[in-house]
Amino acid sequence: MKHINVALFVVHKGCPHMCSFCNQRSISGSQKEITPDEVRSAAETARKSLTAGEAAGGEIAFFGGSFTMIERGYMISLLEAAYEYVKKGVFKGIRISTRPDGISEEICSILKKYGVTAVELGAQSLDDRVLELNERGHTAQDVENAVALLKSFGFETGLQMMTGLYGSEDSDSLETARRIVAMKPDTVRIYPTVVIKGTRLYELMLTGEFIPKGIDETVELCAKIIPAFENAGIKIIRVGLHSGGGVEGDYAGGAYHPALRELCEGRIYYDIALGKLREKDCGSYVLAVNKKEISKMTGQKKQNLIKLQSLGYTCTVEGRDDMPKYEIAVIHKG
Ligand code: SF4
Repeated sequence: MKHINVALFVVHKGCPHMCSFCNQRSISGSQKEITPDEVRSAAETARKSLTAGEAAGGEIAFFGGSFTMIERGYMISLLEAAYEYVKKGVFKGIRISTRPDGISEEICSILKKYGVTAVELGAQSLDDRVLELNERGHTAQDVENAVALLKSFGFETGLQMMTGLYGSEDSDSLETARRIVAMKPDTVRIYPTVVIKGTRLYELMLTGEFIPKGIDETVELCAKIIPAFENAGIKIIRVGLHSGGGVEGDYAGGAYHPALRELCEGRIYYDIALGKLREKDCGSYVLAVNKKEISKMTGQKKQNLIKLQSLGYTCTVEGRDDMPKYEIAVIHKG
């Protein structure tokens, strides 16, 4: 069944901080404040384009900004408009994103009352030094407290983490991932740092104080983080910023690639294949993988096969119906 989300952007509303990486207007691609009527109209448009069964599996999602920190009356007016469609069974729930310090018992009660089902928190890092350097204005403990509270209210809980922030090393990103796994959220999003014009990171980049991480090193790091979440049964909703929505126009540096997840998963396949081939002599091999994963095993522009060839392993890739993701059978060609 098609799962449709009605995505609405609440632009830079209610943020008590200006985080080093954020220019919300660029990321959302819109500067206009949404109104309750626009929520209704977006829900109606989605409803008309779907069968009843398709819409009932979807959510109305308020992204961007810090939803629970916007002016209270305005927040409730948006929720009321969305909740009309949840009460009627048109959509199954409402998803919002906010800051960890925007969660309290009172806020959770309000969200519950208006049909919110899923809450995503921008954790970004669980290293207090990195949080401070990037002017987040909350601590790692705030994230852990907020997650505990959300879970106690029964919300589907999501966490967003970033890699490559100002002052961040791979070691603190890996530790952040480890602590996220320990909190057992339902979902995660991984956002490697992208430098957007008009942000503090952009200024730091121009003075040479911050050198953003490129695609290759980001892919290498995320190829370690992704399996940590997958092995813990945590669903990864997204790796990397969405294309469109204004990012390309204001892009100034960092790990932006429209198919970042595919690159990372390709790297995971490469690491697994190399680990298995290292136990064997150089020569010609077939790498058998699930047939849906052939392109990842091969790598973009056959990069994985070219790198293995340079190490003395001449490989071809074959697809199988019954193999689990990331499983590789290495067969000697004789
Ligand atoms: S809290 Fe979120 S929306 Fe607000 S400035 Fe920071 S990243 Fe941007």
